[in-house]
Amino acid sequence: MARAAEPERRLLALYTGGTIGMRSERGVLVPGRGLAAILRTLPMFHDEEHAWACGLPEDTLVLPRSSPDQRVFYTVLECQPLFDSSDMTISEWVQVAQTIERHYEQYHGFVVIHGTDTMAFAASALSFLLENLQKTVVLTGAQVPIHALWSDGRENLLGALLMAGQSACSSRISCFGATGRPKWTPGGLRPSAPPTCPLWPLWAQMSSVRAFLQPPMKGLVMETFGSGNGPTKPDLLRELRAAAERGLVIVNCTHCLQGTVTSDYATGMAMAGAGIVSGLDMTSEAALAKLSYVLGQPGLSLDDRKELLAKDLRGEMTPPTADERRPSLLGSTWGRGVAWLLGLSGSQEADAVLDALMPSLACAAAHAGDLEALQVLAAQGSDLSLEDFRGQTPLHAAARGGRARVVGMLLQRGVDVNARDEDGLSPLLLAVRGRHLGVIGLLRAAGACLSAQELEDLGTELCRLAARADGDGLRAWWQAGADLQRSGYDGRSALHVAEAAGNLEVVAFLQSLAVGVTAEAPGPRGCPVTDQT
Ligand code: ASP
Repeated sequence: MARAAEPERRLLALYTGGTIGMRSERGVLVPGRGLAAILRTLPMFHDEEHAWACGLPEDTLVLPRSSPDQRVFYTVLECQPLFDSSDMTISEWVQVAQTIERHYEQYHGFVVIHGTDTMAFAASALSFLLENLQKTVVLTGAQVPIHALWSDGRENLLGALLMAGQSACSSRISCFGATGRPKWTPGGLRPSAPPTCPLWPLWAQMSSVRAFLQPPMKGLVMETFGSGNGPTKPDLLRELRAAAERGLVIVNCTHCLQGTVTSDYATGMAMAGAGIVSGLDMTSEAALAKLSYVLGQPGLSLDDRKELLAKDLRGEMTPPTADERRPSLLGSTWGRGVAWLLGLSGSQEADAVLDALMPSLACAAAHAGDLEALQVLAAQGSDLSLEDFRGQTPLHAAARGGRARVVGMLLQRGVDVNARDEDGLSPLLLAVRGRHLGVIGLLRAAGACLSAQELEDLGTELCRLAARADGDGLRAWWQAGADLQRSGYDGRSALHVAEAAGNLEVVAFLQSLAVGVTAEAPGPRGCPVTDQT
């Protein structure tokens, strides 16, 4: 029976350089020519017999049959010159995009063979350059030259060719490290003059911030800590704010591999306040490519550009949903309960019940760290300094739960930082017990002090912590302003106990305090640092 003709997938493999094709020259690896010739000798990359039967030209290879009814043909186009990708810049990536544009109609898909050093930047740049793409572009490379006895390049390249061959009709750019979802109508490529916009790791702590932020700089991607936080040093923020006002576009990206830029922390919010655009969960590489793209668009105002940066253009970021943007009670079971209760208000009885429940509800919200719920309760007229049935305020509950955001919010609303519950305990003591160092710092900065009652038997407690090598417990007391040299009931101090128990880390910490190596514990406003009464 005659076989049906095999559908052909024709791909362009654009070889830009990188280790995959490198050879050793005087002891170092340099980009090497002739990748197609090497691939021709490797049966996994070329079915010589089939090529001969088809009369393929010199630069075109054919993979062994990957499925009974499909063949992948690919033409290797070698760039001139070839690059170690560390030498590539946006101009080279624009050329890669232009090459794809030139050959767009001829091929079903594209594989860009690239060095791994800057592959994530390349993939990000191509995502923005190739607008309205309808064909697959896969980036690949290797850590070991493909002609070596063992090379990751063989699997990587074969996988890339198969992926581009099989999904030739779908639309995405992929490589290890970056993916995008561009759509492309041919002719939609809009390479722009690469504007000056570098990546600035905030930890680099530049001494000459002002000089750095001057023209011709047009945009800057700032790599920040955690969820988008940076130092709140007034002079640094002043410079950033002034630069943003001059029209410098600054994007805040976290250097963490996962997570998003939020305004959860005072430090993060300070950055946002300085006119900086949140990069949410964009990678720095994507942010850099997007910033170049946005700055290269003609005729946009500064606000238009910032708006474009905040939008998801190629699947590079996850913008907050409408619900996340609005304070909502519906995010937790607890919140839904409160929403339901609030919905009951109206009758006299229901209002009386609500009034009675409010302090407990507020404490529960504070303990759960549900800032939005607290904000709604406050907006409904609840007094967030009222005590619950144990005499605890929401600040007690938030301190006990280690909820720094809530503590910060309550302190801003001016609640009593030294409120005592029925047992005479303060939010500060509860935070010390929970070893919530961040909360302790906030409370101390707002003037919280330990009472004489809370310091009773402190020496014995410190010795107990030292015996258990509980450095966090000791640190918490120290951060709360306690004197760690106090001795216990038998006259021994925590240092004596730690030495006797051989708890070396604790010994080192206590000794550093004794000789003043460890930075001063922050002093509160209006009460002595140690032995407060
Ligand atoms: N330096 C090489 C490059 O990026 C590293 C590699 O390809 O793995 O071109």
